[in-house]
Amino acid sequence: ASPAELLAVNDIEVIYDGAILAVAGVSLRVERGGIVALLGANGAGKSTTLKAISGLVQADRARVSRGSIRFLGEDTAGVAPNLLARRGIVHVLEGRHVFAHLTIEENLRSGGFLRGPSRQELERELERIYAWFPRLKTKRKTQAGLTSGGEQQMLAIGRALMTRPTLVLLDEPSMGLAPIIVEEIFEIVAQLNEKEGMSFLVAEQNINVALRHADHAYILENGRVVGEGAAQELAAREDIQHFYLGGK
Ligand code: ATP
Repeated sequence: ASPAELLAVNDIEVIYDGAILAVAGVSLRVERGGIVALLGANGAGKSTTLKAISGLVQADRARVSRGSIRFLGEDTAGVAPNLLARRGIVHVLEGRHVFAHLTIEENLRSGGFLRGPSRQELERELERIYAWFPRLKTKRKTQAGLTSGGEQQMLAIGRALMTRPTLVLLDEPSMGLAPIIVEEIFEIVAQLNEKEGMSFLVAEQNINVALRHADHAYILENGRVVGEGAAQELAAREDIQHFYLGGK
C-alpha cells in the first residue's frame, strides 16, 4: 500500500441472500484526504458497495463473495461494523435514520457512545459538531422527527462525526432535499475535508453537485465500474452529462 492510500477496494463481488449479485467486480481507491464520489442510477450498486466497506452487508444478509477491502493497510474482511467504526470508518446510511423521538442533542450523544469517551470529551465533541452545524445547536432540544429533511441529514452526519472518523461513507446525502440545502451540506463536507483532513466516499445520483465537490469519481452501472476519473474531467464530459440529465 502506498502511503497515500486510505481505502483500497479490489474487485469485490457482493451477493444478497446467496443469490442476487448486486456488486459484480468493483475496484476503487480513496486517498488520505480525498473526496471521492460514487455515481450511478438507482440500483447500480452504490449502497451495497458502501455497506461492503463498512461491514453492514452482514446485517442485510449479504456477503462479500470475492475480492478484498483494505483500510489503513489492513484487510477488513470479516471485521464487524462496530470494530471498523472504532478503526475510523463511519457510514451515514441513505435515508438518514435518526431517532425521531429523541432530541437532536440526544441523537448526537448516541453517536459518541461507540467511543465511550469521558463526559468532558463528549461535551467537547458536541460543541465541535455544533460549530460545524449551527442549525443543530439552535434546535438541540427539538425532537429530531420534527425537524426538516435538511436538518435530519445534518444530524445524521453530525452524529457520525461524534466517532471522530477518518473516512466517512455518505449515502445519497442530497436525497429529497432542496438544491440550496444540498449545496449547504456539500459545502460543510468540503470544509470538514479541508480543515480536519477527513476523507469522504459519497454515493450520489445527483452527479453535478457531487462532481463539483469531489476530487475523483467512479461511475457504477449494474454493479460494475464503467468509468472513473478526476471529477473536473468527468464533469466536462458531454456523454456523462447527457446520460444522466437526458436519459434518466
Ligand atoms: P439506491 O440509490 O436505490 O440505493 P444503489 O445504486 O445504491 O441504488 P443498491 O441499493 O446497492 O444500489 O442495489 C444494488 C442491487 O442490489 C439492486 O439490484 C437491488 O435490488 C439489490 N439489493 C439491494 N439491497 C438488497 C437486499 N437487502 N436484498 C436483496 N437485494 C438487494
